Amino acid sequence: MTIAPRKQTSYVFYGQTTSLCEECLQPVPAKILFEGSDVFYQKRCHTHGVQKTKVSTDVEYFRRCKQFIKPGDRPLKYQTVTEFGCPLDCGLCPDHEQHSCLALIEINEHCNLECPVCFAESSPQKKTNLSLDKIEAMMDALVESEGEPDVLQLSGGEPTIHPQIIEILKLAKSKPIKHLMLNTNGVRIAKDKQFVKQLAEFTPGFEVYLQFDSLEKEALINLRGVDLRAIRQKALENLNELNIATSLVVTVKKGVNDHELGEIIDHALNFKCVRGITFQPIQDAGRNEGFDKNKDRFLLTDVRRAIYEQSSVFQPEDIIPLPCNPESISIAYGLRDGKCVTPITSMIPMEDLIAEVPNAVTFENNVGLREKVIDLFSLSSGDLNTAERMESLLCCLPKVPVLENLGYENVFRITIIQFLDRYNFCVGNVKRSCIHFITPELQIIPFDTYNLFYRNGLVHELRKKVRGTP
Ligand code: SF4
Ligand code: SF4
Ligand SMILES: [Zn+2]
Repeated sequence: MTIAPRKQTSYVFYGQTTSLCEECLQPVPAKILFEGSDVFYQKRCHTHGVQKTKVSTDVEYFRRCKQFIKPGDRPLKYQTVTEFGCPLDCGLCPDHEQHSCLALIEINEHCNLECPVCFAESSPQKKTNLSLDKIEAMMDALVESEGEPDVLQLSGGEPTIHPQIIEILKLAKSKPIKHLMLNTNGVRIAKDKQFVKQLAEFTPGFEVYLQFDSLEKEALINLRGVDLRAIRQKALENLNELNIATSLVVTVKKGVNDHELGEIIDHALNFKCVRGITFQPIQDAGRNEGFDKNKDRFLLTDVRRAIYEQSSVFQPEDIIPLPCNPESISIAYGLRDGKCVTPITSMIPMEDLIAEVPNAVTFENNVGLREKVIDLFSLSSGDLNTAERMESLLCCLPKVPVLENLGYENVFRITIIQFLDRYNFCVGNVKRSCIHFITPELQIIPFDTYNLFYRNGLVHELRKKVRGTP
């Protein structure tokens, strides 16, 4: 009798997590499989069967992310208890492993656009504007949980058209919040110079987070429903004129704007007010017209590759995992002199990035960085000082000193944020989420789970299933 030889799998079984069934959004077990250079989740739902979804296109980077994991930084307070199991206890529940590096408050649902892609499903028809009292209670909930919150982002809807936007900004400035951001589509900023002047009064410690998906008409119509090229240009000019710190935020959709990431970086460097660009692959949540899992998904690793292939500024080693949430966020920091950017993230030793107590990276202990900076800014080494620190924007990074005579305007950063959706959800990653919504009910809920389960009330149905009640 001949015995058939054992067969080897065509993949590497790397581990297992809990993801979501893509049909019913029920948490389900998922095998993590490596196949060639790709990583897949293979999920199994009792009702909807086996589903296989690509979650990374770079096995080596996926593996490397794990090495960046550092001890979590917990909030001072939790708003819920752990009862149903993650992700049904948000939050934050005591099982969460990260505090709020960046918190969002949606001050309205009202918007002057109606984008085909909008996780908040805002539109001109939705008229809700939160009251000043409610917004203050939400800010206070954040302060109670964080002590001195690192970043608060006012969002919406379109926050600039809230009738009390200036009072709301003043209110936020009166709280112990280190950095305040205004998340906007730029329409009012382009059209109302008087308003931009009012915004300039909130600097320093204030930044505009400007929707900026594309330089092309077709892509803007696909993502935003209208050709916003002139609006974007005018908004940037107005912000630049008053040197209001600005981050551009680019929603990336495959085949729509993934070919112009390098061009957007070059364009941004024409404006001295731009401190960085955040690239966000589309999260499949809320309004996402005509989204096709197989055609439209563009992953974090795809964005990272597109940046180093399309831009002359950043090389692969410059774009590294963010230690507090490495699989979902990648970053590249550079020092900027006019249009010239010198990436520095690859010069920071990994021990410093993942240290339990963040180390100060000093010029004294980092010869490479010291030489680059002296060279870039033609300084004598005697000028070196540690006055202003870049880490004030991302608390999860080690302290990288900037020179006394250099300011925040000499920083240029690239961030890639891949939010979790029904395809790439991973219970381990969501516990590391550090971007959180403060809800009107004064809960603090990770961006990912809020858009998937809480905003739409699905959480109640899923909790009933856990309890076994109909
Ligand atoms: S995502 Fe965080 S806050 Fe929400 S249930 Fe899971 S551990 Fe708790
Ligand atoms: S994505 Fe922003 S600009 Fe577009 S509809 Fe939603 S809130 Fe308004
Ligand atoms: Zn299912």
